[in-house]
Amino acid sequence: MGSDQLTKLEGRLSFLNTLEEKVNYANKHKVKAGLLLIDIDHFQRINYQYGYEVGDKILIKFAELLSSVKRKQDHLARIGDNTFALLLMGIMNTGHAELAARKVLRSLEVPFTYQDYQIRLECSIAISICPTHARDSRHLMVEAESVLHETKIHSNNIGIAKVVGEEELSEFWDIEMAMSQALKFNEFSVYYQPKIDIQNNRVSGAEALLRWKHQSRGFVSPEVFIPIAEQSGMIKPITAWVINTSLRQAAKWSDKWGHQTVSVNIPPEFLLMPDFFDMVSNSLKLWESENVSLTLEIIERSFVSQVDRTIGALEKLRERGVKISIDDFGTGYSSLSYFEKLPVDEIKIDQAFIFHLLKNKSSRNIVKIIRDLGRAFDLQIVAEGVENSQVLKYLHKIECDIVQGYFYSKPIPNEKYMEWLSKVELPKI
Ligand code: C2E
Ligand code: CA
Repeated sequence: MGSDQLTKLEGRLSFLNTLEEKVNYANKHKVKAGLLLIDIDHFQRINYQYGYEVGDKILIKFAELLSSVKRKQDHLARIGDNTFALLLMGIMNTGHAELAARKVLRSLEVPFTYQDYQIRLECSIAISICPTHARDSRHLMVEAESVLHETKIHSNNIGIAKVVGEEELSEFWDIEMAMSQALKFNEFSVYYQPKIDIQNNRVSGAEALLRWKHQSRGFVSPEVFIPIAEQSGMIKPITAWVINTSLRQAAKWSDKWGHQTVSVNIPPEFLLMPDFFDMVSNSLKLWESENVSLTLEIIERSFVSQVDRTIGALEKLRERGVKISIDDFGTGYSSLSYFEKLPVDEIKIDQAFIFHLLKNKSSRNIVKIIRDLGRAFDLQIVAEGVENSQVLKYLHKIECDIVQGYFYSKPIPNEKYMEWLSKVELPKI
């Protein structure tokens, strides 16, 4: 699949496609992407001095080192003999890309050891940012390549593309710092998006989606701040806050409209945290209500590693009455061998398949396969990203259980959601 034989990273051609796709995504969602080109200095000299075999080993180790700097939403590739590309998704400013570059340089301070050799590597790193330096992938790459050339000539370690035209406003904004204040300053809130049981045409619950309104910047997308919160550890108090807030608010809804289910997103790594069960259990105790159930939506990525521990954690949560949903199903790493062992209640088909449902036969096939898989394991099947009635009708016809999407409602604040519940009349499908 276009991967580089030696390092197993994505290769140049495949990366150029990824770059185009991700830059389009960044433009559409108004997030920033940073391209780092990382070139090992004097690599030919290493090959001559130690031989190609050592050269190859160094490339493999270097790839491993870059993989440790890469976050899960980033993309890493080997695009030339001794040149690598790291695409950082959802950064706030050039400073963040520079931090990643410095991290690479710092990790090179420890020499590579191979057999009796101790080899100290140096590299040059060029940075270009979309949309600050270029709005399309081709120019972004050209910018980075020309900066890399300059950086090499001047024997610098890091080079950054120059801003043309408008100044970069968000340059010195430190999202991590601002986030640590956000809980204190009450800048977070939970929005809710209804989940509709389309076979019985009734509201089945709501998904809680976190919103952050920064005092001067306005709303910051969760796609931007959640990954940073995950990296910095802030995600733990934030998640506890989301669980507590949504259980408290759902208890209020249930006073008026009977039983309610609220779904909260959980980073998959939480399942392996020793105190996660207590965190959930304490919140349930605090807002104890027979009329409120909690569902945890967890993306697949955790389930592959440490399967037994993951299963144990899921079982314990289910015994406590918590329902488990596998989020963004279909794009992760599912394998049937562990899927059959997973104690879960629901699968949510990734939005990407739903968006392309009408145009794309293979998306329809995938959706049907996931439906069959869900049926075979007695799971509830949820489709999210339903934006129009044709898609809804199709999902109804193939007997999908629950849908969610702009067709019914965007995620809305608590008061608006209560208003929505009080007035809701679901259209006949
Ligand atoms: P997700 O869990 O896949 O959430 C669904 C996203 O799709 C939400 O984006 C929602 O607003 C959006 N969406 C729903 N229906 C439609 C539709 O019909 N069309 C389109 N185009 N989009 C739709 P949002 O709120 O921006 O959240 C993005 C992601 O951020 C979430 O993806 C989730 O992974 C993460 N997130 C949000 N809140 C939390 C949270 O409290 N904790 C954690 N860990 N992650 C969260
Ligand atoms: Ca979700």
